[in-house]
Amino acid sequence: MKKVGIIYCSRYVDTGYGCPGEWRCLKAASLGEGKFKEPCSVVFWIACECPGKTVIPNTKMAMKLSEIKPDALYLSSCLVNSYPPCPYFTPEEIAKKLKETFGIDVILGTHEYK
Ligand code: SF4
Repeated sequence: MKKVGIIYCSRYVDTGYGCPGEWRCLKAASLGEGKFKEPCSVVFWIACECPGKTVIPNTKMAMKLSEIKPDALYLSSCLVNSYPPCPYFTPEEIAKKLKETFGIDVILGTHEYK
């Protein structure tokens, strides 16, 4: 089974604004729905925290502690589609940085549930 890491926007999840915290990302991954083409094993699910400076070191630490390099990284739908948008970077910018740093494909978005 494909192994994936998910990075979510804590501004959304921690405030409940736009995400009630029932983790639709994890549902989509387990069922192979939304942006997941097949059921996937989520090996870590970590937060981006404003202003976004910890996302690279936290991803590195998650890989170190889990001892798993995922096949792909996913930026959650709340991170990619946030409104108002992230004031610090675009989803494309952070995806590019993650790809350059870890050499892993980065997918924009996770689920398409309403
Ligand atoms: S930096 Fe942007 S993506 Fe990261 S938690 Fe803050 S608002 Fe969300």
